[in-house]
Amino acid sequence: MALRTIRVIGDPILEKECKPIKAVSDRTKELIMDMFETMYDANGVGLAAPQVGILRQLFVVDIGDGKRYVCINPTVTAIGEEEQTGEEGCLSVPGKEGVVTRPMKVHVKAYDINMEPYEFDAEGLLARAMAHENDHLHGVLYTTKVEGELEDVTYENLEEYDFDEEEEEA
Ligand SMILES: [Zn+2]
Repeated sequence: MALRTIRVIGDPILEKECKPIKAVSDRTKELIMDMFETMYDANGVGLAAPQVGILRQLFVVDIGDGKRYVCINPTVTAIGEEEQTGEEGCLSVPGKEGVVTRPMKVHVKAYDINMEPYEFDAEGLLARAMAHENDHLHGVLYTTKVEGELEDVTYENLEEYDFDEEEEEA
């Protein structure tokens, strides 16, 4: 496994449409493992393939609920009309956050790491993460959906993050 370089806002690859994955090769599996490692290293809860320069319909999510989601060729559909409005950030927009409105509940259909189809409902933060990562696969950054100003992440907000884990020695 290896850390991948995270592309940042301004990189045109982040605004491109991703292509579906036809089959999961050993290389794809390695990419998925690298994406998890890169996401955890950056203290993120989701990471999409275009963020590491790969224009394929794939993202990974782990919001800390004990589940690791691998979503290949996903569709994310809002359930009902209920919405949530809250702070959002992105590993491709470092040091920034902004208020975005998303569906409160979504239905996700995707393929897993073995190319087996599966589906599930997500709510709250998980629904937000699914919607955010799915946008990446269609070249959409959350910055285009921010209500009001994009803000700098403050120390106050950073206290919510978990810095307890010790850094691995190189
Ligand atoms: Zn993002």
